Amino acid sequence: MAQEVRGVVAHSKGKPVSVETIVIPDPGPGEAVVQIQACGVCHTDLHYREGGINDEFPFLLGHEAAGIVESVGEGVTEVAPGDFVILNWRAVCGQCRACRKGKPWYCFNTHNATQKMTLKSGQELSPALGIGAFCEKTLVAAGQCTKVNPAAKPQVAGLLGCGVMAGIGAAINTGGVGRGDSIAVIGCGGVGDAAIAGAELAGATTIIAVDRDPRKLEWAKGFGATHTVNAAETDPVEAIKEATGGFGADVVVDAVGRPETWKQAFFARDLAGTVVLVGVPTPDMTAPEIPMIEYFGRGGSLKSSWYGDCLPSRDFPALVDLHLQGRLPLEKFVSEEIGLDDIESAFEKMHRGDVLRSVVVL
Ligand SMILES: [Zn+2]
Ligand SMILES: [Zn+2]
Repeated sequence: MAQEVRGVVAHSKGKPVSVETIVIPDPGPGEAVVQIQACGVCHTDLHYREGGINDEFPFLLGHEAAGIVESVGEGVTEVAPGDFVILNWRAVCGQCRACRKGKPWYCFNTHNATQKMTLKSGQELSPALGIGAFCEKTLVAAGQCTKVNPAAKPQVAGLLGCGVMAGIGAAINTGGVGRGDSIAVIGCGGVGDAAIAGAELAGATTIIAVDRDPRKLEWAKGFGATHTVNAAETDPVEAIKEATGGFGADVVVDAVGRPETWKQAFFARDLAGTVVLVGVPTPDMTAPEIPMIEYFGRGGSLKSSWYGDCLPSRDFPALVDLHLQGRLPLEKFVSEEIGLDDIESAFEKMHRGDVLRSVVVL
């Protein structure tokens, strides 16, 4: 029987969100209902509220979550009621041209629940990234549930569902950072700091954090930055070269996603180095003008990283285990724990850069 729970809804462009009664249908074939324990507040949630993703209001926000599977529909074998899971927005199909080529992290046809969650009026909701987890329970495709070690705290594990995975994956999966490498990360919010934590985990020996906010540079040190550069005071390209023997870094991650930061990343890498764009540009931005000979002459690669090129079934359990072994300090990303009624104030704190992550705990 359908259940009624509380959840956070964005009704229209730019308007404050509100807590509403959400109707959750029983899981159909291939679906699962998950009782949410914790869900981080991500920039993408604010983006939905601002109408920056699409116009399919009303949205059920929240997508960076962990919880317990409550019930599963017909044919679901990968998870069972009682399993502790992180929700993902890359439930791979196994059938598309990327999956068939053995590159499922690029899957072009990821799964979401088929049925709709609704308001009490019957109006259908669009769940953020096909999840909708600022809610006591949510309905997802069973493939969106990734089982991990239940010894991890939900408020920490859930962060791997989006921003932290995006950052770690940008460094390790997309950038291919490994033992002895140098990396620079431009923009040290949640995603940038996760890239730093990932680089440290992978054995990078020079990890340069770049930001304009001294508080963020301090946080970056806590995740493993060996050098910090205040871009408000120093030219980051020069500073990165200086920290790498005059050459530039093997990998530069742009976690801001603006033409000027991407240009800095381009010129701050070593010959044959890699630029990874993980910060999300706005549609009005265009690539900076760079002489074409520079693209050719410097070699290397210019990449974009979507969700850290992660494969949830491969990456989430491993990263949770590394965290439990004390090798990945995910708890440092949790700046505060809040309730469902506090989302608007969490958006403000995020916008001001006062927090790495506010996490709703249910
Ligand atoms: Zn696929
Ligand atoms: Zn997100």
